This record gives sequence, structure tokens and C-alpha cells, in this order.
Amino acid sequence: TYVVTEACIKCKYMDCVEVCPVDCFYEGENMLVINPNECIDCGVCEPECPAEAILPDTESGLEKWLELNASLSASW
Ligand code: SF4
Repeated sequence: TYVVTEACIKCKYMDCVEVCPVDCFYEGENMLVINPNECIDCGVCEPECPAEAILPDTESGLEKWLELNASLSASW
């Protein structure tokens, strides 16, 4: 799955939302998040983010963000 990280906070350009083929972005209070169960790992959103906030979960140190993406997108 891909994960939205810190650089998205108070950004919310929404470019990523428009390109996602499965509509798995959800809006948290301060940032957008990706539902890890719905993301199909296509990677289309990554280059669309002007803040470079979207990263693949294969990068290290993203546990906290993964958890946040999962919890904020689960309430919908
Ligand atoms: Fe959507 Fe693809 Fe980005 Fe996952 S990797 S959030 S499916 S655009």
C-alpha cells in the first residue's frame, strides 16, 4: 500500500484523489489518508503529489503513518 505522510498536513491539494483509480483517499481533519485495504499499489498518486507526501510502505520508518492512514480511513 501507499501511505500519506507528514508533508500532507494542511496541504490537501487533492491532485492524488483525482487520479486514484479505486477512490481510496479519505479526508482526515488535517490531511488526506489512504485506506490500506483499498489501495491497489498502482503508484499513480505518488508523482501527482506536489508536497511529495505519498510514499510506498516499503520505505522504512513509516509505521506511525501507516497506522494513522489505517485508522483515519477506517472511520468511513
Ligand atoms: Fe490509489 Fe494507486 Fe495511490 Fe493506491 S497507489 S492510493 S490505488 S492511486
